[in-house]
Amino acid sequence: NQKPVFTRASAFGDRVAIIDSSGSHSYKQLYDSSLALAGQISAALRTDFGGLQGRRISFLCGNDASYTVAQWAAWMSGGTAVPLYRKHPPSELEYIISDSQSSLLVAAHPCAEALEPLAQKLGLPCLTMPPTSNLSSLNHTDTKEIPISDWANQPAMIIYTSGTTGRPKGALHTHGSIQAMVQCLVSEWAWSKDDVILHTLPLHHVHGIVNKLLCPLWVGATCIMLPEFQPEKPHVKDFVKAVCKDRIRLMVSGSAALPLPTLQRWEEITGHVLLERYGMTEIGMALSNPLRGPRIPGAVGTPLPGVDVRIVMDNTTNTTIVEGTHRETRRYVVRSGLQSKEGELLVRGPSVFREYWNKPQEPMSPSLMMAGDTAVYKDRVYWILGRSSVDIIKSGGYKISALEVERHLLAHPHIRDVAVVGAPDATWGQKVIAVVQLRKGRSLTLSELKSWAREHMVPYTIPTGLVLVEDIPRNQMGKVNKKDLLRCWEPLMQ
Ligand code: ATP
Ligand code: MG
Repeated sequence: NQKPVFTRASAFGDRVAIIDSSGSHSYKQLYDSSLALAGQISAALRTDFGGLQGRRISFLCGNDASYTVAQWAAWMSGGTAVPLYRKHPPSELEYIISDSQSSLLVAAHPCAEALEPLAQKLGLPCLTMPPTSNLSSLNHTDTKEIPISDWANQPAMIIYTSGTTGRPKGALHTHGSIQAMVQCLVSEWAWSKDDVILHTLPLHHVHGIVNKLLCPLWVGATCIMLPEFQPEKPHVKDFVKAVCKDRIRLMVSGSAALPLPTLQRWEEITGHVLLERYGMTEIGMALSNPLRGPRIPGAVGTPLPGVDVRIVMDNTTNTTIVEGTHRETRRYVVRSGLQSKEGELLVRGPSVFREYWNKPQEPMSPSLMMAGDTAVYKDRVYWILGRSSVDIIKSGGYKISALEVERHLLAHPHIRDVAVVGAPDATWGQKVIAVVQLRKGRSLTLSELKSWAREHMVPYTIPTGLVLVEDIPRNQMGKVNKKDLLRCWEPLMQ
């Protein structure tokens, strides 16, 4: 009984769906504009209405109503929506358009300039939408039944991962997996039609697309979209504690570990304990601190409804040949959640993606995902220790979580930002190195850091190397590529 979000939207009629700098857009207006744009897409590709059969439509829009219209239009025409990000450079846009093998590009009015040269270069048709204030000027087609059946199994979106550990990978989600992501959040975080959400996040990433846009549109709530988060703008300065406390019901953090000082400072400013959740492009959200009840700093809570989370221990390692490539496959002993050893996180459930697009060498079992993160179940909640490939430092027989070391170091009064990496070491296998950005006017030596750390940290987790940098490089999602960091600073870590 799966239905894409827009079929629910039509029932919300004149309720306000989106408020952006051009004004208010009702659910009905968004639905009608999407239908009209879907007609244009079908005509441009010379297909019957609804008959695109999963062909990819890449679209570039700002944070406003045009995004939703483009996404729904791609779906109504039977296509797979591929969201692009306006802050990506042309080379990145080209990579995603080419990798997804898109048949057509759609540009919001202000984005046409960025997309048209690429359309020409790649020989693709490009439709430009009218300005957001004038979306209703799209030529109206007679309202049509959308002739697509078996929605649950139809491809809906290719969302590219953040590219923290390598080139972004396209995760193909069906309408069924997207609906599962939406429904578990709607129930766990108690979304209702009376909610109003402030949306300032990028819209090429599951947090911005699903958690903050598709969830409100699923329940008939209102989404206020601002082009980006600008702390100096008055709407954020006005975040007076009393107003936040009384009028905002939920504040969420995710996509990377939430540093404790940020959690504390946020509470001082707003009176809210941020709800930290854990998820990824391939699975949507998997673990969440509770809406009601205590939120544990540093933990990511318990599985969302319908999500099955396990911690698996690496048992044996075999090498086999899969489709001509040399790959390592491991056998895992799966244990139920109630134990306290760390291991790799395995996620199962209806929200898991179908496959990595255009990557036949990445075989997938349906609905099952090794997250690539190491976690531990302790005190009845899950804790993320970091990415198994880079954040679990093996030193002298110990396994050290880079994220936990970072959490400790961020409490140092001189440290503004930090990334911890494991550098190769002839004696210990790996050693713990802290790459640190200091607060303005502060200084720090390795021996000062060590003597401070001896008071606060387990001895073998204390960094034995310190690299001071002006700025820790982060990607568009604010995450650190630790392999690059290591490559860049390794000469200084000896
Ligand atoms: P790529 O897969 O391209 O390297 P990415 O993994 O950063 O990039 P996303 O799917 O956007 O791309 O991010 C998912 C990852 O983010 C998770 O695998 C996990 O490592 C991290 N993450 C998400 N939420 C949390 C959290 N609350 N605490 C710690 N890590 C988190
Ligand atoms: Mg990933």
